[in-house]
Amino acid sequence: MTFTRPIWAEISRRKLAQNYRSLRSLAEADAEMMAVIKANAYGHGLAECARVLLAEGAGFFGVTCVEEAVALRAILPRARILALSGVWPGEADPVLDHQLTSSVWTVDHLEVLEEAARRRSTGAGELPVHLEIDTGMSRQGAQLEELPALLAHFGQASPLRLQAVMTHFHSPQDPSSAAQQMQVFAQAVEQIARAGLRPQFFSAGSSADVLEQTSAAITDLARRHGARRMIRTGLSLYGYAPDGKPNPAIEPVLAWKTRITSLRWIEPGTTAGYGATFTAPRRTRLALLPVGYADGFSRLLSNRGWALVRGQRAPIAGRVSMDQTMIDVTDIPGVASGDEVVLIGEQGRERITAQHIADLTGTIAYEVLCAIAPRVPRVMVE
Ligand SMILES: *Cc1c(COP(=O)(O)O)cnc(C)c1O
Repeated sequence: MTFTRPIWAEISRRKLAQNYRSLRSLAEADAEMMAVIKANAYGHGLAECARVLLAEGAGFFGVTCVEEAVALRAILPRARILALSGVWPGEADPVLDHQLTSSVWTVDHLEVLEEAARRRSTGAGELPVHLEIDTGMSRQGAQLEELPALLAHFGQASPLRLQAVMTHFHSPQDPSSAAQQMQVFAQAVEQIARAGLRPQFFSAGSSADVLEQTSAAITDLARRHGARRMIRTGLSLYGYAPDGKPNPAIEPVLAWKTRITSLRWIEPGTTAGYGATFTAPRRTRLALLPVGYADGFSRLLSNRGWALVRGQRAPIAGRVSMDQTMIDVTDIPGVASGDEVVLIGEQGRERITAQHIADLTGTIAYEVLCAIAPRVPRVMVE
């Protein structure tokens, strides 16, 4: 597909690299950094982000599923890649073909992998997996009482190797609930040690843990067991903190831009857009933008959000439609067709972040970023 519409997302290599370094310096020196680049690197573009993070030294890459992992393997031929959401029937061959690592937490996952490994005469311990423990999220992960049945699959002759034991915190900003989850994790770790297994990594914690150090106790636990901690950072790599507050350690990586495609004056009392939800209170200059909810620009921004033109804020006028949005530029002198418009990013002294949009639309920066549609080209910039 060639992109000719004037709408694009600029991804800053320098900021992405800088965020990685900043997080790396906040984490313990012996921690392994997993760069989470699932969902097209949180909307930032898988291939380019993966290359930048590899060059910065990320030791592991986390993606959602085996499909994403296979796509990433074509980009990073040798990196260690973890598929974070288990393994389905039919996925074990791609896991082996592409030397991927799976997260596992059910006997089914282990059997799917073992069957393919035996069929292909994979040697003992040649297939690494990350065993997820449910410590309170109740989403993925084995419950403590299921562990014995799972651990029985890691015998001497098994093709499986328990490379990491992992868990996920449901409220990483809250030290007391993280502490409760860590207690459950510690019990799982005890069971694993008693079974004679020695995982190399204890993988727990995401962006919030690096930025706020809520679960540093995992590091001590790992050291006591001769393992290293792995921290799985996603959102913060892209410059946002999970709590929604600006964080001086990181900077937003993505800017979303477009151009004015046409302009018109409307008389007082004239309406604009579907449902006529905007009525001009005065003679009003409307500028048309080629961006709509099909691009991931939320319809909930109708009559609420704004964009930046000539360094000033221009409010959205009327409903965001599928492919187009109007903004009110009456108060901005000299606006012309072709002017650059910022939807996310900086212009002059003004700035719009994915967090502003999230606040206006009742969601989180994660969703705003992931929602930017594939039809919006990602352009790498310095
Ligand atoms: C997405 C994800 C992460 C990264 O979380 P962030 O809050 O984006 O840093 C870490 N671990 C798991 C299991 C995930 O699914």
